[in-house]
Amino acid sequence: MKSETRNPPNAGLKPQELGVLRAGLLEQRAFRREQLAGIRRSTGPDEAVGGRRTARAQVRDHLAVAARIVLADVEAALHRIDTGHYGQCRACRGVIDLSRLRICPQALYCRECHRVREAAGG
Ligand SMILES: [Zn+2]
Repeated sequence: MKSETRNPPNAGLKPQELGVLRAGLLEQRAFRREQLAGIRRSTGPDEAVGGRRTARAQVRDHLAVAARIVLADVEAALHRIDTGHYGQCRACRGVIDLSRLRICPQALYCRECHRVREAAGG
C-alpha cells in the first residue's frame, strides 16, 4: 500500500474563514434561486410572436442560463465544504488563495491555473 500525503480537509482553512465563505455562498445561492424564480414568473405567453422568441425573451433565456451555471457552481462549492474538499485547485491540487476565495468563493481553480485556462480559451 502506498503512503499518500493527505491534504487537510478544506485546504486547511480555519473554521471561521470557512464559515464566512459558506455564508457568502448561501447568500449567492438564495440570490440566484430568487433570480431564476423571477425569470420564470415574468415569462408570459405573449412572448412568442409568430412562433419566434422575441429579443426580450432571448435576453432572459441567456440570463437564466447564466444564473443556472452560477447556481450549479455555488451548490458544488457548498458540497465541497461539506465533504472537506473545498479550497483545493481542481487542476494542480494546490491550495486556492484565501484572497481569491473571498472574491470568488465558488472558484474551482487557483489563480495560476485559472489564468492558464483563460489564456487557452477554455
Ligand atoms: Zn491550480
